[in-house]
Amino acid sequence: MAIATKPAPQAIPRIAPREDLNPYRIAQIQFDIAAEHLKLDQGLRQILRASKRVMEVSIPTKMDSGQVKVFTGYRVQHNIARGPAKGGLRYHPNVTLDEVRALAMWMTWKTATVNLPYGGAKGGVICDPKRMSKGELERMTRRFTSEILPIIGPGRDVPAPDVYTDSQTMAWIMDTYSVMVGEATLGVVTGKPISLGGSLGRSDATARGCLFAVEEACKLKRINLRGATVAIQGFGNAGSAAARLFAEKKARILAISDSRGGVFNSRGIDPLKAMRYKERSGTVVGMPGTSRISNDDLLTLKCDILIPAALENVITLNNAELIKARIVAEAANGPTTPHADEVLARKGVLLVPDILANAGGVTVSYFEWAQDLQGYFWTEGEVNLRLETVIKRAFHEVHETTRKHHTHMRTGAYILSVGRVADATLVRGLYP
Ligand code: NAD
Repeated sequence: MAIATKPAPQAIPRIAPREDLNPYRIAQIQFDIAAEHLKLDQGLRQILRASKRVMEVSIPTKMDSGQVKVFTGYRVQHNIARGPAKGGLRYHPNVTLDEVRALAMWMTWKTATVNLPYGGAKGGVICDPKRMSKGELERMTRRFTSEILPIIGPGRDVPAPDVYTDSQTMAWIMDTYSVMVGEATLGVVTGKPISLGGSLGRSDATARGCLFAVEEACKLKRINLRGATVAIQGFGNAGSAAARLFAEKKARILAISDSRGGVFNSRGIDPLKAMRYKERSGTVVGMPGTSRISNDDLLTLKCDILIPAALENVITLNNAELIKARIVAEAANGPTTPHADEVLARKGVLLVPDILANAGGVTVSYFEWAQDLQGYFWTEGEVNLRLETVIKRAFHEVHETTRKHHTHMRTGAYILSVGRVADATLVRGLYP
């Protein structure tokens, strides 16, 4: 095959003195560091650094006013060496192609970190879902599905929910795909409603996986989760479920936040009350019994465990030095820049990287897909037990790799996962 086997004579990439916050550039820097540790040859690096397939589509949508609005959407498949592409779909006004490329690449490493038979993909539509009606979202989703239909499918690429998409979005995708191919196809998306082949345990899976990873991190840091203090940025699917599950373990939730700001109570916030309050008022801000805290101040709170569960690039050179948490568990994708990684490692903060800390979501998505293909469904207890096995095994494999390579957990996770994808690529060989 055309892939050379000679290690590339390249130094570990130097990070520019001013931080580059382009997520795709960041994803490539993280990859380069691992590729260097693994001494991958140049040909293989070129394959793994690039997106395998990028699709950009126009999505003409009839709005409630009767006017047509054309949205732009993307589906990026980064790698399919180990199995079908897998990754979420994001609706957000700030979606860019580079963000989707980065998220797709991170999915490849994530599925490999937890050793699922998948590659990596991601999708996004530039839109402001908070200002769209349910009907508009449905029409946009169905048209987007028909546009990307040639490249998705249970054996090709399996979307799932991400920021501002949910089980209803997945139901529309499943229905549109099924109507167009002429047969009910449960396995085309995951994160579906239970009534439509969704898996029990999926809605909490990202947060539950994060909890399992943090339980292991606490053992390393000798922290008792009972009574440990926790700050959570982002109170959506991942963040609110994390608050609830950590509180069930008797951890004290000091602060939570959403896009409008945060709230703080040194004696602890009751996540269930916060969820009810957010349902009524659309935000956690103003919740009775709490004081206001900004998203920036939440990140630098004195606490045992910090969980960024919103968007990218929130822990950067600007605030890394000020982080006081002993464990940072990345429920969000890409919240920490490579510069900030170095600062946190120097300060002795144990960072559980996104490709491990939030891999619970894709793991139970994998369980959902397996159940759909079998047409045989598991109990919630079985799902949670298998999730615990997968995440805890991955945590120890990452920790062992980290130790062997004298590095921090992000690079440890990258060395493990990039190594697995590189092996699969080499053993498959190049076509033609
Ligand atoms: P979501 O849409 O349910 O929630 C996002 C939350 O972030 C909301 O509470 C929103 O108000 C808040 N937010 C938005 N902008 C913010 C800002 N500037 N500052 C503070 N908070 C802000 O999304 P989600 O599914 O919970 O995803 C959150 C993160 O977790 C994303 O990075 C996503 O990629 C990642 N993730 C999600 C899953 C999953 O299964 N949902 C799986 C893996 C990773």
